[in-house]
Amino acid sequence: MPPLIIKPDKQALPNDTIWQAIWDNVNLGLILVDQTGRVRQWNDWVAKRSGIPAKSAEGHTLESLFQDELNPPFKSALKNSLTHRLPVVLSNALHRSPLPLFPWPVTERQQTRIQQSIAITPLTGGADEHFCLIQITDTSISIKRERVLKLHSEQLSIDANTDALTGAHNRRYFDERYKIEFNRAQRQGTPLSLLMLDIDFFKDYNDNYGHPAGDKVLIAVVAAIKSQLNRATDVVTRYGGEEFAVILPDCEAPENHAMAEKLRRAVSNLNIPHCKSKITGTVTLSIGITTLECDAKCSADRLLETADTALYEAKHAGRNRVNYLGAAE
Ligand code: GH3
Ligand code: MG
Ligand code: MG
Repeated sequence: MPPLIIKPDKQALPNDTIWQAIWDNVNLGLILVDQTGRVRQWNDWVAKRSGIPAKSAEGHTLESLFQDELNPPFKSALKNSLTHRLPVVLSNALHRSPLPLFPWPVTERQQTRIQQSIAITPLTGGADEHFCLIQITDTSISIKRERVLKLHSEQLSIDANTDALTGAHNRRYFDERYKIEFNRAQRQGTPLSLLMLDIDFFKDYNDNYGHPAGDKVLIAVVAAIKSQLNRATDVVTRYGGEEFAVILPDCEAPENHAMAEKLRRAVSNLNIPHCKSKITGTVTLSIGITTLECDAKCSADRLLETADTALYEAKHAGRNRVNYLGAAE
């Protein structure tokens, strides 16, 4: 971009008073620096946020006015712009607060610099006179708003993937995560175990103790399952109703059997009374397991069906047990 050329045209321009009013009322900082690096003028916006009146700044370099507080990338950007007469924009992401400017009106926490977006534009004033116009925008508010929006969107994404009752991941998360882990296992030739867990006689529990008591059982069961999973990659999800799915990447027999047995025992050890259970007097789990063996050709749907069949068989074999079924191709 070529340097801007100031062509004074007295007819077309408003008078000096108007220019001064514009200069001092515009909602951004303006600093005019001459080719020797001295401030010729800065506007009210800069005076308020730096605490230095324009009159005191005139004729001094920014370095002498701000000393060590000036950020080095800003100093070299200004120097380059003055020397080579090229425009420079300082990335706000890299240089949050290059100049020691503070919030206005003065707040209690005025020790924190405002965040700034800075553009330096070379100007030619006619004859051999050159200047740089430094424009400063306060981006603190937009950055704060951006951060709040980012937090909101992260929270929304957590909510969208979480079961509100138990805090476990939900079915939607399972569908995504299962696909990712299945594809990864196939790509890397690593095993993947899938566990389907279902609370035994839960309808009878609800009928006897009431739905709110049933909800508490679901919460306690998820907490018991979570307490047994020690790798960050082991994921428990509420697959639906009183059924849960656990994905165990890079895990095959006998570890998956041991883990399933640990989960079954953890729930049984909660000793939640269930007088309508036809097998024990407490709440229990039935678990179906299957494994995608290394280099197997089984599909993701087939593996899921197999885990479901393994669970069905565990139910029919008497409940409160773990049942393994190998995944067929
Ligand atoms: P089985 O041993 O064969 O699994 O029998 P079951 O009674 O556990 O299975 P069934 O599918 O007949 O009943 C599941 C019950 O789970 C019925 C339903 O009311 C209950 N349920 C599902 N979601 C919730 C929930 O969010 N809260 C409560 N309290 N109960 C739920
Ligand atoms: Mg059940
Ligand atoms: Mg069920």
